[in-house]
Amino acid sequence: MRKKVIAANWKMYKTPHQAKEFVDSFLPHAWGHTRDEIVICPPFVCIPATAEAAQGSGIAIGGQDLYWEQEGAYTSAISAHMLMAAGCTHVIIGHSERRQYFSETDDTVNRKLKRALSAGLKPIVCVGEVIQEREAGLTDEVLRRQCGIAFRDISGGEAIPIIMAYEPVWAIGTGKTATPEMAGEAHAVIRAEAAKAFGEGVATQIRILYGGSVKPDNAKALMSQPEIDGALVGGASLDPKSFAAIVKY
Ligand code: PEP
Repeated sequence: MRKKVIAANWKMYKTPHQAKEFVDSFLPHAWGHTRDEIVICPPFVCIPATAEAAQGSGIAIGGQDLYWEQEGAYTSAISAHMLMAAGCTHVIIGHSERRQYFSETDDTVNRKLKRALSAGLKPIVCVGEVIQEREAGLTDEVLRRQCGIAFRDISGGEAIPIIMAYEPVWAIGTGKTATPEMAGEAHAVIRAEAAKAFGEGVATQIRILYGGSVKPDNAKALMSQPEIDGALVGGASLDPKSFAAIVKY
């Protein structure tokens, strides 16, 4: 039985002060919640404040991106070790907004994934199709390509901490969600790619989250699907009550 992961992606929202306020208000809902793993991914500058406020609660902290080099003259980039020193155990890689606005490619996702794994960060790797690809019947092909390249040169032994997130791009921030059947089919494709790259035994351990307009009122239906191992939540994770309601689906 795979333990579900409920992860908050705050994107470019909140100051350190607001991050602390969120955690102070969210914590009473999260204490003693052991059924699922809870991860909060704040903007870089909010990581220390969020980690400090969440200390001892069991809530994990994640970055929203990282760079694959260890250090160097890479203005604005953040390394795996910097994330860990600031309190992160997780990192989101390849979010569609990074792919869309910041030139993230399947190849850079692969480089970042390898770095996260070698540093000891648990990666949350996002894949998903845009609406034109879904309408053209290309969803499986897109997922196979994104996963195939992301998983390149990673061994089965290294791959166990990988968390995948199926995020159909047309469902992110739009209020549209994939039907449980659509999510189930996509998750099966992702797991098959993981099996091809890492072997069946590892693939069955990898958690595959669903992301795309997860809200308190649809969380239960989505989380009841056996193939859905948790959620990556954007908009609805910004409010402590709404994120708590999702965590308690
Ligand atoms: C996301 O940013 O990963 C996401 C799923 O956003 P939203 O929940 O707002 O659709």
